[in-house]
Amino acid sequence: MNITIVAGARPNFIKIAPIIRAIEKNKSEGKNVSYRLVHTGQHYDKNLSDTFFEELNIPKPDINLEVKSGSQAVQTAAIMVAFEQELIQNPCDLVLVVGDVNSTMACAIVAKKMNIKVCHVEAGIRSGDMTMPEEINRIVTDSITDYFFTTSDTASNNLKMYGANPENIHFVGNVMIDTLYQNLDRISAPNFWDDYQLEQNNYVVLTLHRPSNVDEVTSLIDLLQGIDEMVKDKKIIFPIHPRTKAILGDYELNLKNIVFVEPQGYLHFMFLIKNSFAVITDSGGISEETTVLKIPCFTMRNNTERPETQSIGTNTLVGTSIENLRKVYRNFIQTGKKESGIPELWDGKASERIVEILLKK
Ligand code: UDP
Repeated sequence: MNITIVAGARPNFIKIAPIIRAIEKNKSEGKNVSYRLVHTGQHYDKNLSDTFFEELNIPKPDINLEVKSGSQAVQTAAIMVAFEQELIQNPCDLVLVVGDVNSTMACAIVAKKMNIKVCHVEAGIRSGDMTMPEEINRIVTDSITDYFFTTSDTASNNLKMYGANPENIHFVGNVMIDTLYQNLDRISAPNFWDDYQLEQNNYVVLTLHRPSNVDEVTSLIDLLQGIDEMVKDKKIIFPIHPRTKAILGDYELNLKNIVFVEPQGYLHFMFLIKNSFAVITDSGGISEETTVLKIPCFTMRNNTERPETQSIGTNTLVGTSIENLRKVYRNFIQTGKKESGIPELWDGKASERIVEILLKK
């Protein structure tokens, strides 16, 4: 079986690393499987791309389509045009896409129209929020996927509800968590650890990049100021996403506790998360990682496509208002961590299951 693996953005790189590792293991055992890695170039900053390839030992992509930034339509179209050429020149048996970024949807459409089987890893998750580009990407991708690999029963049930053939839905666990377990003994403190006198439990990590939180600059500044005042006695480490940085531009901010740092490589970032007092974020992936690491996570969104991070894990959805965050955070300070568990099959073996199942198709 000849698989083309697609990755375009930071969370994709984290998800493909263990899948490639599992394919290579099977190949070395003499199984009939090979792959070609296509980087669409959706993320091209060194901090969001190259660093992840280096740290997670992901092989150099066979090709980079170099689509770079653009509006939703411009970027999606550019990926489709380039990926069609790629598949014409390098035919394959199966295209494997992960997650919910534009590259996921664009490449799934191109493959399906060329009568190539599509496999979607992290299929079936739904926020129900059609204002999120990711939700549209999920729905479109899953509507043309042949083999679905899911992270939860909820996701599998969503797919059944949408009419997917149950025989093609496989609940395998979470590849993001495979990467976490595979790298936990490699994580290390970033260079600024001592500069800011960081210690286990004496700081909060903040990440924000969703349009609903960052696109309106005055609300973003209010939110940052509110968080700065709320976390009185602790530093707040804020690895700022290029998207958020561009919106803040040269605005003068008067913040006492928030420390702006560059987007972190995976190994430094996971070290920061693992040792933090709490995390405030609007990222889906981070709510999964904090669940496994048992770190309290406050998600600045009104909905989540990963409900198990809240019902089982450490995540609390707080909406997008600072007032609500303040209330929830105060309650957490008074009552301490909530009881939590780890969702079923988030055990570090999802990628092995995926490759084993694909090889039987
Ligand atoms: N991440 C990282 N460094 C950072 C921020 C995030 O390594 O400075 C990793 C982390 O593992 C996280 C993943 O990137 O789960 C995806 O983050 P992002 O917020 O970009 O994507 P989302 O989860 O919202 O799709």
